[in-house]
Amino acid sequence: MIVILKPNPNLDQLESLKNWLIGKGIQIHTSLGTTQMILGLVGDTSTLDIDLISALDIVEDVKRIQEPYKNANRKFHPEDTIIPIGNTQIGGGTLTIMAGPCSVESESQIIEVAKAVKASGATMLRGGAFKPRTSPYAFQGMGAEGIELLKLARAETGLPIVSEIMDAAQLPLFDDVDVIQVGARNMQNFNLLKILGAQPKPVMIKRGLSSTYEEWLMSAEYVMASGNEQVILCERGIRTFETYTRNTLDLAAIPVLRHLTHLPIIIDPSHATGRYALVAPLAMGAVATGCDGLLIEVHNDPAHALSDGPQSLNPEAFDKLNRRILALHAFMSTGEGRA
Ligand code: PEP
Ligand code: MN
Repeated sequence: MIVILKPNPNLDQLESLKNWLIGKGIQIHTSLGTTQMILGLVGDTSTLDIDLISALDIVEDVKRIQEPYKNANRKFHPEDTIIPIGNTQIGGGTLTIMAGPCSVESESQIIEVAKAVKASGATMLRGGAFKPRTSPYAFQGMGAEGIELLKLARAETGLPIVSEIMDAAQLPLFDDVDVIQVGARNMQNFNLLKILGAQPKPVMIKRGLSSTYEEWLMSAEYVMASGNEQVILCERGIRTFETYTRNTLDLAAIPVLRHLTHLPIIIDPSHATGRYALVAPLAMGAVATGCDGLLIEVHNDPAHALSDGPQSLNPEAFDKLNRRILALHAFMSTGEGRA
């Protein structure tokens, strides 16, 4: 249930309403917008009398919420979430470009790629140190050393870094990582989500291979309910009957999530397609559909990449694509683009 308050409510009345609700075992999440305050009530609200609350002087409206996710719900928090990261931000009209290799492979590789993507206008460096591979015999990532190399690349370029955590035990290594990624396979690792909710770094949750929007939003809810509101959603394609592409990119996720949630939405055309030639058209489609950013795999030598070479762009192809992306985003930000 949400309680929308009138502007400038009487503070004594607000305090007594809150105390009354707390006395009934309800948790209150307060969201302060530019003009209005909204109280999100979490707990068993079935016994609360809507008419009684609506009749209070300070209350403008009371609504029951059907969706099981509350913190991630736009009804609860009408304004878009903006996540500040270094001297950039995710959401709020900014187009975030996360680019970098699937795996960090060596110091020279990550520095070379970081410099190249930065020169092309990427706003964040993404690289995997812990890799969730289908085969236990495949390259598993450089681990802690990979995280150190990402930090080195950040120091060289100024780009904030994004990397995937696979296990809660790895958390101390992510102390100084700017955005912690939860991979598709871990989207419903609820213990990991709770632990990430109890630490301060932003968390980007990739959509599970066969997860519904609601399941995905419930994963965001796990992090938010544990205290961390800085959650980003990343669509990376879902499993369908099609085998030509690695997955099927669900661009409908952008308008649907925009309606359901206030959280920023990133699109990953690299894992969605598995083919470098498809990355550019789908990246353009995602920007035209209104995403908050893209995650694009870029490797300095895709043919010899230790993981995901076939879907990786080389720096030249990324440069060409990013020019088109930025031009399209500039158009999308105009009145005509938004219409
Ligand atoms: C990745 O981002 O490198 C990755 C493994 O992706 P996903 O979890 O979407 O499969
Ligand atoms: Mn990858």
